[in-house]
Amino acid sequence: MDALEITYLLNSGFFVRLGDTGFIFDDYQDPAGAVDKALPELKELYIFASHAHFDHFNPAIRRYAGKANAFFLSSDIRLLTSSKQMPMDKTIWLDTYDGYEDNGICVTTFDSTDEGTSFLVEKNGWRIFHAGDFNWWHWEGDTEENNAFARNGFRKQMKRLEGLTADIAFFPVDGRLGTAQTYGAKEFCARTDVKALVAMHSVGYPRWEPAPDFFLPGKEIPVWAPVDSGERRTLTAGGGFSK
Ligand SMILES: [Zn+2]
Repeated sequence: MDALEITYLLNSGFFVRLGDTGFIFDDYQDPAGAVDKALPELKELYIFASHAHFDHFNPAIRRYAGKANAFFLSSDIRLLTSSKQMPMDKTIWLDTYDGYEDNGICVTTFDSTDEGTSFLVEKNGWRIFHAGDFNWWHWEGDTEENNAFARNGFRKQMKRLEGLTADIAFFPVDGRLGTAQTYGAKEFCARTDVKALVAMHSVGYPRWEPAPDFFLPGKEIPVWAPVDSGERRTLTAGGGFSK
């Protein structure tokens, strides 16, 4: 299995490269121009957007249409006027709990606790999970009722993800949540079988490091929490992140 090469774009945006196949997730800004630099070397390119929020979907991704095999877009994006700018012949709209399989790529969607979907992408033996805005969104100072709703929504969806296996998971560890920053990621890692974690959706906050009790004993996995656009790591199957 080729190693995965992962470049942080911004927020929940990542460019993942597997040999000459590229995957772009939630690219709303790419200040370091990582995708443009790699584009000429790619033979296949798949582009994903988990939901319509501006910090996840930017119709400017249509600039990759010439190279892209497919755009996998969450159905809620369709409601945006700007979605009409997308190349319809290459766009695949996905609902929650939807799937697509073709040409050696398999995409499965799950529900989010915010809008849209999360993605499980299978390609060349790799299983890549990108949570989108699926998270336990517990806001300090919010009403008890709202936070109970957030907890219940998260737990309900976690039941569907229980035991999920993936080689890598991109998951929100949002600094704005304060003491609840890791509620979602911690439970997600405890209840799934993911082999490596990339923390995301925490722009402007210091680099996150898991507390000693973040992982259940025996379930410690490699973590990467990028801060600067253009940061890159390589992940080997069953190994850790290396520069
Ligand atoms: Zn978001």
